[in-house]
Amino acid sequence: MRKRLQAAVVLCAGALVVQAQGNQPPDRPAVTVRGQTYTPRSILARNMGTEVDQTTAFVPHKVVGNIYYVGTRTLSSFLIATPQGHILINTTYERNVPTIEKSVGQLGFKFSDVKIVLGTHAHGDHQEGDALTRQMTSAQVMAMAEDVPALQAMKPGGKEHPVDRVLHDGDSVALGGTTLVAHLTAGHTRGCTTWTTRVQEGARTYNVVIHCSLRAPNMLTREVVAEFNRTFTIVRPLPCDVPLGDHPAQYNMQAKHAKLASGGANPFVDPDNCDLETDIQEAMFRAALADQPK
Ligand SMILES: [Zn+2]
Repeated sequence: MRKRLQAAVVLCAGALVVQAQGNQPPDRPAVTVRGQTYTPRSILARNMGTEVDQTTAFVPHKVVGNIYYVGTRTLSSFLIATPQGHILINTTYERNVPTIEKSVGQLGFKFSDVKIVLGTHAHGDHQEGDALTRQMTSAQVMAMAEDVPALQAMKPGGKEHPVDRVLHDGDSVALGGTTLVAHLTAGHTRGCTTWTTRVQEGARTYNVVIHCSLRAPNMLTREVVAEFNRTFTIVRPLPCDVPLGDHPAQYNMQAKHAKLASGGANPFVDPDNCDLETDIQEAMFRAALADQPK
């Protein structure tokens, strides 16, 4: 049973909207969810860590079934290994691609066997490496239609961003017995994509949800508000045993990974926390919306 979580929203009395300075989001409003307090600034810091965190490999590891973590300390990259080659979700920054290649190799797989490259959303920290990965592997790059314009504007070193297949909400991507479904969960970007799949581990089948970021931008336009209002109703009912995210902090990866060493049940199987990140981000979105001048 998934717990219905109540998010307590704490708003500063009479809070004014604080405009972001540069790329730094404001440090209010503050929301408290399950006893932890967050601000837009603290969430961004939690997601990104330091420059070194963004570019240093985290120990590559099996998550569940045929899904492996091959990303850095703060930028997720998932390898889905199949007998017909592999799917890579999120190449992250272009400068991280050799790091990801190394992590794939450490797990006993070949980076050159990557056949399909997918992404969660058209921001450089998640998909800048697509063009280089395609050059290194000849994989097909597939992207949600609504994110294609933003991806095409991403040209590291002048390289065109490849898009070999344009996806639409509900489309499936299949390879070697694994099927992923693309869910349009817009808001953070126009084409933010949540991926779902089912994996086998032992005698059991698990529903895996790879969430796209649900972090609201500083400026909540009418269009963005409509997108998030739809998105929160899409992500909550998704069947989920294993919640993952495009930043490891979204699913407490480091704490769960630490538990792997003690054996026992797979810590990444965590149905009670499938909605935790959604609760945090929806509380923040509602608080920011209430703060915004009418
Ligand atoms: Zn982003």
